[in-house]
Amino acid sequence: MADGTLAERLVAGDKRALARGITLVESDDPAGWELVRDVYPRTGRAAIVGLTGAPGSGKSTLIGALTKLRREAERQVAVLSIDPSSPFTQGALLGDRIRLTEHFLDPGVFIRSMANRGALGGLSEAALQAALLMDAAGKDDVFLETVGVGQAEVDIIDHADTIVLVLMPGSGDSIQALKAGVMEIPDVIVVNKADHPLTDTMVREIRGVLSLAPAVKGAWRVPIVKTEAVRGTGVHELVEKLDAHRAFIEAEGTLSERRRRNLRSEVLGLCAFRLRARLEDALREDERFAALLDEVVARRLDPASAASEILERFDAADGARPG
Ligand code: GDP
Repeated sequence: MADGTLAERLVAGDKRALARGITLVESDDPAGWELVRDVYPRTGRAAIVGLTGAPGSGKSTLIGALTKLRREAERQVAVLSIDPSSPFTQGALLGDRIRLTEHFLDPGVFIRSMANRGALGGLSEAALQAALLMDAAGKDDVFLETVGVGQAEVDIIDHADTIVLVLMPGSGDSIQALKAGVMEIPDVIVVNKADHPLTDTMVREIRGVLSLAPAVKGAWRVPIVKTEAVRGTGVHELVEKLDAHRAFIEAEGTLSERRRRNLRSEVLGLCAFRLRARLEDALREDERFAALLDEVVARRLDPASAASEILERFDAADGARPG
């Protein structure tokens, strides 16, 4: 396994090559981008499932249980836990990873966590690149896990083919988020901790929220699955729903549509990210920019007019440098 380029080893399923590749991508190393470029034609095969929900709802436990079932079916699994709010890079989600310990030594399971990548963002991009590498490495199932239900989490989870919202009885926050449209309606809703006495009340509440959405003929009907992740109860049914959703979007052509939409926002996101970096570079030592900013600070020029002026100069210089 030690022979060959990093791309070759990764595609052959070498865990260390995959780990190295993700580190490169995460640190924005050009070698990481090259690696993704090289293996990209081999991606698109894995079923990417995104799980989101409030901390403590049981996502990690659920992923552990799902991994167990997928491994019993001899499928290769990768788990990517992402915490947009954490300032740490490594070990940020140690707690979650501990819940996956029984899978650590299994060569068919790859587990990785990722956290914030600085002020410029880019975590969502890094997460997609990492998922692509997992896909290229031959993983059949990629579980993307985020810690909450905020906008950053939604951006990340958008890369998934199937989106699972994990709720727990007795906590109304996520239902509020659904109602308020913070989150697009997920594909599958899990009410975990079904041992809780308020489980059925919660299922009814969710049904109520779902019924507010306009009924579209032939559309996917969002199933609500009750699970007790710690004991594995209901997890078989969840697997069935995940497979059913996958089959549905494949048959309807929505999988390629959805991927096209996600890849579009990915390409746009990368453009925006790089343009901003170029702009910051170009303006860092620019005296005229500093002078403009002084005007804005002194309230003689409004921010939008200042932005227009900068962009005009940028355009005039063909985007290379402000003139
Ligand atoms: P996450 O933050 O969403 O990843 O949640 P965790 O998987 O870390 O679970 C949070 C806590 O809930 C842990 O102490 C789990 O043992 C517990 N938990 C998970 N699933 C269940 C369940 O089905 N029933 C009960 N009673 N507790 C659960």
